Amino acid sequence: KQLNVDLGDRSYPIYIGDGIIEQIGSYFAKHQISSRSPIMVITDDNVASLHLKKVTTHLLESGYKVVEYIVPAGEMSKSLSVLEQIIGKALDAGLDRTSTIIALGGGVVGDLAGFVAASFMRGVKFVQIPTTILAHDSSVGGKVAVNHPKAKNIIGAFHQPQIVLYDTSTLKTLPEREIKAGLSEMIKHGLIWDAEFSKWIDENAEKLLSLDAEALEYGLYNGCKIKSHVVSEDEREHGLRAILNFGHTIGHALEAVAHYNQLLHGEAIAIGMVGAAKLSVRLGYPERIYTETKAAMKKYGLPIQIPGHLDIDEIMKAMLHDKKFKEGKVVFTILKDIGEAHIQSGISIDLIREIVEELRWEE
Ligand code: NAD
Ligand code: ZN
Repeated sequence: KQLNVDLGDRSYPIYIGDGIIEQIGSYFAKHQISSRSPIMVITDDNVASLHLKKVTTHLLESGYKVVEYIVPAGEMSKSLSVLEQIIGKALDAGLDRTSTIIALGGGVVGDLAGFVAASFMRGVKFVQIPTTILAHDSSVGGKVAVNHPKAKNIIGAFHQPQIVLYDTSTLKTLPEREIKAGLSEMIKHGLIWDAEFSKWIDENAEKLLSLDAEALEYGLYNGCKIKSHVVSEDEREHGLRAILNFGHTIGHALEAVAHYNQLLHGEAIAIGMVGAAKLSVRLGYPERIYTETKAAMKKYGLPIQIPGHLDIDEIMKAMLHDKKFKEGKVVFTILKDIGEAHIQSGISIDLIREIVEELRWEE
């Protein structure tokens, strides 16, 4: 399956399918990835042991000079010091302006390698080979970044890839918890944009959770398509793109208070989506928004309740740090109905607090 992300002269295709890595050479040739200078594949140590060899082998066979760079798995690798080391290696290995940087991995590797590509020699070509379900979200839209000890994703850029090669066969090695957390963003895409897709997600939980090839391809295709629609209309987040933040205001606060090491991103936003759905109902929209959102999370084995050890005051404080909060009033992405997101401003912080307190007891 092929999908085009429409961004004028920065448009690019996403290819989704089983075994795509085996044809990597022809995709690269088709999309003008030069083999004159070395290319660099950046990945993490988990993905390296499972999938790097086949990528490198196919690239070598197609005449590319390949430099591998393996970072430790995890959010800590999205740092300026890792960036500096990678660029050191790139220089030593003779990469230049015509080189391409390849991200082989999940969102961590995608964000990091993307920022390398955006900054090395003021920007070189970039290719994404996502290996997580969550990466259907992070590989579309061109946001790339590393973290600062004081804030996540605060050093970054917009840098669109040349192509995205989504080989669904790589997903078979994902741990179960990562599968569920990745599907959380797919559920989000249905809820904010497409009631029919939402219904399909609800009906195909068993297939998606067991990584049925056909279901997975369809789900990832539609998830990418929704993200790419939104991003095409608002590349730099002036307005519409904010609907992608559904569940993320509460979710980000939970991740921060849990020190980014207890809740996966997809788990945190699952709780956040239940909260945002609750808020939608409180603001007068149909009850089914809440019941269906919550039912979806439960069906996919995602958490819906704020873990008991996370302090509500701290969660509120973390949320107040969020840039979307102004003078006691909050801007929040809610749903007017399933499939219809809306950015609502002027919500009182007291109401948000009530909702967060209720999320403690959700079941
Ligand atoms: P991740 O990249 O850390 O991957 C999750 C875990 O799965 C890691 O331990 C990884 O080593 C392992 N893994 C990856 N592929 C595997 C495979 N095929 N088989 C077995 N194990 C595999 O995390 P993620 O959930 O993919 O992404 C989270 C990151 O994405 C965060 O840093 C977040 O900020 C970023 N993100 C970015 C955007 C964006 O628009 N740029 C959007 C959403 C999230
Ligand atoms: Zn997200």
